[in-house]
Amino acid sequence: MTVTYEEALQKYEPVFGLETHVELGTTTKMFCGCPTTFGAEPNSHVCPVCLGLPGSLPVTNRVAIEYTIKIGLALNCSIASWCRFARKNYFYPDMPKNFQISQYDEPLCVDGYLDVLVGGRTVRVGIERVHLEEDTGKSLHVGGATGRIQGADYSLVDYNRAGIPLVEIVTRPVPGTGFLAPEVARAYVTELRDLLRSLGVSDVRMEEGSLRADVNTSLSPRGSDVLGTRTETKNVNSLRSVERAVRSEVSRQAEVLDSGGRVIQETRHFHEESGVTTSGRSKEEAQDYRYFPEPDLVPVAPPRDWVDSIAASLPELPSARRARLMSAWSLSELEFEALRNAGALDAVEATVAAGASPADARKWWLGELARRANDMGIEVSALPITPADVARISELVAAGSLNDRLARQVIEGVLDGEGKPDEVVAARGLAVVSDDSALLSAIDEAIAANPDVVARIRDGKVQAAGVLVGAVMRATRGQADAARVRDLIMERLS
Ligand SMILES: [Zn+2]
Repeated sequence: MTVTYEEALQKYEPVFGLETHVELGTTTKMFCGCPTTFGAEPNSHVCPVCLGLPGSLPVTNRVAIEYTIKIGLALNCSIASWCRFARKNYFYPDMPKNFQISQYDEPLCVDGYLDVLVGGRTVRVGIERVHLEEDTGKSLHVGGATGRIQGADYSLVDYNRAGIPLVEIVTRPVPGTGFLAPEVARAYVTELRDLLRSLGVSDVRMEEGSLRADVNTSLSPRGSDVLGTRTETKNVNSLRSVERAVRSEVSRQAEVLDSGGRVIQETRHFHEESGVTTSGRSKEEAQDYRYFPEPDLVPVAPPRDWVDSIAASLPELPSARRARLMSAWSLSELEFEALRNAGALDAVEATVAAGASPADARKWWLGELARRANDMGIEVSALPITPADVARISELVAAGSLNDRLARQVIEGVLDGEGKPDEVVAARGLAVVSDDSALLSAIDEAIAANPDVVARIRDGKVQAAGVLVGAVMRATRGQADAARVRDLIMERLS
């Protein structure tokens, strides 16, 4: 690509929007009693309803309605007192009825927002609608190098996923985030994922497809508030890819516009390996789907008192948790973001609950442990060390039994499976040498071996003592308390 992101931003203002699909964690499908568990033998979770056999009739899953209302309330939406499902007509081999039961002009939840924190500032993302629909099955293209339909020998269809309740959350276009647009898009999906997880309505696993984002991107000329033509990048399957997809589309569209072309309204595919998008199909308009009210289902009319009782049962939402923890731990927004972006929030909270100070818990999880997780290519939450272990290590440091250097060795031992912190301390013989007589003999040796340094210290150049401290620390293999060593040296030479 010849136009860089930075160059594109000088002339254009990016506007993005997100359509996020969430598979709900109900035990049964949206309109039948088939189970929803992931990874079952293909076509073992099917029945006449989700296979679209003639004469079968759908029945709405009450829990799916309840979960959708929960999501709508948590996103500050109004909940419709009456709405209907609609048929969205199109052909897909993995959609046995040749229409999808969805919601069109009467979504269950409308007009909400979600506040996200980026770069220390809060951006309010408008939510246009939250509606309920059913998922399609899955096609598997066999033969061919890429797993795509092009070049495949044949295709197989698995209908286990067909009919799983799917919530679609659609934002309004988000203008005015400028250079930060890709990061705001990512932060929105992150915040939404955390929100959905806290509600317990989905396992929100992007890698298993239970949370999937389509990213709409357009460019307006700087200083203009006319929205440009948008493209829709489909099925972006990781948080990092959300950010990269926006960034790549901004550069590509700027290049098209700069060369006098026009952006075509189309769907595009994001490629993880190259980080670029390629053209998919031209985008259908709503009228192409021939929506009409689903005649086989009764309308959904959630009674007000039911909605109120769902509202009363909502757990602490991520925004409330953020406010609580920032206040309790005296964090700035940037410090909070650093914790959240490192995926260390739960771990730090649990470590504090296990007795560590917030400052110590943050120091270990954002420092040594984040570094180790990065080296191992895993999330910090997946490290084989518990918050209780980290709290115990902090306690040993606070008590003076370990210094930071020894504490890092204890962490290494725990991660290597050598046992709990106290077991590692015992097995590796790690403890600060606090016995002054042991230190004094090492100090005397260091003094004897460095007469020139001693002369300089006696001349008043006290910073030269660092050489002697270093020698003693080496002699005790780092197990001494450096501050104590310095004090003893100065006493000895005074
Ligand atoms: Zn079924």
